[in-house]
Amino acid sequence: MVVVMAPDATEEEIRHVTERVESVGGQAFVSRGLERTIIGLVGDIESFHGLNLRSLPGVADVHRISDPFKLVSRQHHPERSTVWVGPAGSQVPVGPETFTFIAGPCAVESAQQTLEAAEMAKAAGATLLRGGAFKPRTSPYAFQGLGAKGLEILADVREVTGLPVVTEVVDARDVPAVAGLADMLQVGTRNMANFGLLQAVGESGKPVLLKRGMTATIEEWLMAAEYVAQRGSLDIVLCERGIRTFEPSTRNTLDISAVPVVQGTSHLPVIVDPSHAAGRKDLVVPLSRAAIAAGADGVIVDVHPDPEHALCDGPQALFGNDLRALAQAVRQLPPLVGRRPAAVRAPS
Ligand code: PEP
Ligand code: MN
Repeated sequence: MVVVMAPDATEEEIRHVTERVESVGGQAFVSRGLERTIIGLVGDIESFHGLNLRSLPGVADVHRISDPFKLVSRQHHPERSTVWVGPAGSQVPVGPETFTFIAGPCAVESAQQTLEAAEMAKAAGATLLRGGAFKPRTSPYAFQGLGAKGLEILADVREVTGLPVVTEVVDARDVPAVAGLADMLQVGTRNMANFGLLQAVGESGKPVLLKRGMTATIEEWLMAAEYVAQRGSLDIVLCERGIRTFEPSTRNTLDISAVPVVQGTSHLPVIVDPSHAAGRKDLVVPLSRAAIAAGADGVIVDVHPDPEHALCDGPQALFGNDLRALAQAVRQLPPLVGRRPAAVRAPS
């Protein structure tokens, strides 16, 4: 932590700051510049917070230079992590060397629709299947998902296609049931700050896909990841899915800068969801290209065999030519930025 003194701060004000810091067991290192004096603090940051340093006379600003999150921070874990998803012997990596393409329907609607969507996803090159059995809908009157029946459908489709399954859990009480069938548990944007749910998925033993809250700062998002990590699981993949801004042309604004910012501060992999960011199928391919160029570790995309009749998010679901264009982008572009497609790890 660094305290910046005002240009006209007096010696007495500087001494007052150092005495306050020392009174809670910290050390204060005063360095005097030409224009102003800064004081470097070493010690327990939490105890410095209690001093309310910003309010002391002569203090202009206080900067925190140590990350508030610890387990997910790169400060003590400089190597970027790879998270493996899937049953032993057929795991798919999400990490810095590969590019992981995840696709599937927004919602599991029926066995046939899910199988068709999974086959489309697989043919396009996806190695993980997404699909919601429990849907967090803005309206309580909208389709809420098939629940436990949807989980069974996903497990059957995994059996047929070999694609490990990523699916959302919206309630901490459902974690055991979802973790029993799924290969990765998704926490959606609306639940990013549901701390009980974060703790429950952290204890589930399954990897977690943590979406950014639509109004969350990057720091809040990483603190949410810290809740999961604190419960024992560092198998966390972050997902940028767009944030709310004043711009109405897209459902959300994809914060592409979040990808390199997060990779600079956290060792966790970060992927992009262009479908939920844009809410429009025509933007999914350009935003996926942008994600690859920005260094994302993967994308997660909605596909549907019949978007017109989809029960959830049809306007953003890819099909036909759009899906072919995406397949081409995720095949051709990652090698240009030094990544290989994430394939299933062969049994050793
Ligand atoms: C989803 O992926 O199905 C979903 C609901 O996404 P988000 O939480 O990003 O809106
Ligand atoms: Mn959706």
